Amino acid sequence: MNSNATEQLLAAYAPFFPDGKIGSYVGGEILLGDGADISLINPATGKEFLTYKDAGEKVVAQAAEAAIQGQKAWAALSHAERGRLMHNAGRILRENLEALALLESISAGKPIRDCRGEALRVAEMFEYYAGWTDKVYGNVIPVPSGHLNFTRREPCGVLLEITPWNAPLNTCGWNVTPAICMGNSVLLKPSELTPLSSLAVASLIETAGIPKGVLNVLVGYGHTTGQQALMHRAVKKVVFVGSPATGGKIAAASAQRGIPCVLELGGKSANIVFEDANLERAAIGAQAAIFGNAGQSCVAGSRLLVQRSIYDKFVKMVADGAKQIRVGEPTAAETEVGPIQNSKQYEHVLGMIRAGVKEGAEVVEGSNGEPTDNGYWVRPTILKNVHNKMSVAQTEIFGPVVVAIPFDTEEDAIAIANDSDFGLAGAVWTSDIGRAYRVAAQVKAGTFWVNMYKVINVASPFGGYDASGYGRSSGIESLHEYTQVKSVWVETAAKPVQAFGYAPSLDASK
Ligand code: ADP
Repeated sequence: MNSNATEQLLAAYAPFFPDGKIGSYVGGEILLGDGADISLINPATGKEFLTYKDAGEKVVAQAAEAAIQGQKAWAALSHAERGRLMHNAGRILRENLEALALLESISAGKPIRDCRGEALRVAEMFEYYAGWTDKVYGNVIPVPSGHLNFTRREPCGVLLEITPWNAPLNTCGWNVTPAICMGNSVLLKPSELTPLSSLAVASLIETAGIPKGVLNVLVGYGHTTGQQALMHRAVKKVVFVGSPATGGKIAAASAQRGIPCVLELGGKSANIVFEDANLERAAIGAQAAIFGNAGQSCVAGSRLLVQRSIYDKFVKMVADGAKQIRVGEPTAAETEVGPIQNSKQYEHVLGMIRAGVKEGAEVVEGSNGEPTDNGYWVRPTILKNVHNKMSVAQTEIFGPVVVAIPFDTEEDAIAIANDSDFGLAGAVWTSDIGRAYRVAAQVKAGTFWVNMYKVINVASPFGGYDASGYGRSSGIESLHEYTQVKSVWVETAAKPVQAFGYAPSLDASK
């Protein structure tokens, strides 16, 4: 254990939980688990920060009960009051941005500049959905006669939201805000590797007046605490963000219980650069697309498709840029890229680079797949001479590694882009507006950018095609994920017919 780093982490945690206890946040208090010890590891050094206990079944049951009560209290408030409290939560999150960002930076190993942006986005998410609490309407349905039929959009109840380690703060805000906007309560199960920022958010929003039990955070492993929560009958819907393999297990378990789930999984997004693009801007965009958050981003532009006429020149431009990227300590102000978050992922990234080289790819810049001495560090890496059938072009690497693939024509580029199991995102760089529209329409992806990359916003729907998942988060679309529709029938005829079944010939005027 590195005592200095542990002290630093506990100091960053103290503004939220002064006694330093790490457990599940249930109904407004920390409950210590009774499961196995879980180690929090410092990604910058590979050494242990501290340990905490897996929540276990008893805490899961207590959290489920707290969420049931929290949901009742929350749904009993007026829509306007819920909006006011969510807005208040946004303000309090803003006041705590720096503290939240520091906690996330140390514990998750993410550059502090990125963490500041993420903390701000969480506040914005509360503010955005604060405005929606009283603006989601049902419909009046034009049924033929003698009846009034209308729909109500009602909360689902208690939701289980399972989030990953690559963007703990972001995925917490992204999923919790539309859920509670629509009157649900949440059991949030962050990754066992990065639970602290979610605990901090839960405690902050309660100080804003959001009732206890509306957001409960379960800390622990997925196969224990996550599964126990998933199997609890209080849970009415599951929202999962994470790897495709685990997503499959979640979908299977949800199906077994007969409850719906939303999946936001991986990607292998194509970033397509044509010879007529502004190459300086495209080169900067290509770096941001893949090297931001050390490539541990589901929308990363991990396949760089470059028109053959500019292939060598453009690959060199991206490589020259990558050399300048400041890789360093997560909390240092100038750091642009930090370490890989955990050892399993680190081994995977290095293994993928080595596999690519074995298949004939050439490392133009960055790591050759050899491990470093301390911590989980991988320099921004570019592989060239890659074709789309190679494993590095088909498997999600989820690290700072981009593969450059040449193409000849527009049709070629689209075919290569679509030759993937995934369909999360993509981009095109060109000065031909018609081509930009054509490519945007034909690449299968839930999000597509033209002459830009990786801009997302809480107001815009987000989700995947194909193996990247189903369901949508953010924007208006997500509100429908977090409600169920009830159809209400009212008798309006003066002389109602007492008949079995629906009587379409009934005349309301009689
Ligand atoms: P990785 O494999 O990169 O660690 P995962 O997709 O497995 O990422 O993890 C994403 C989230 O899913 C984490 O919160 C993790 O604890 C959770 N999880 C993992 N396995 C299960 C499972 N069997 N049931 C429920 N949640 C799980």
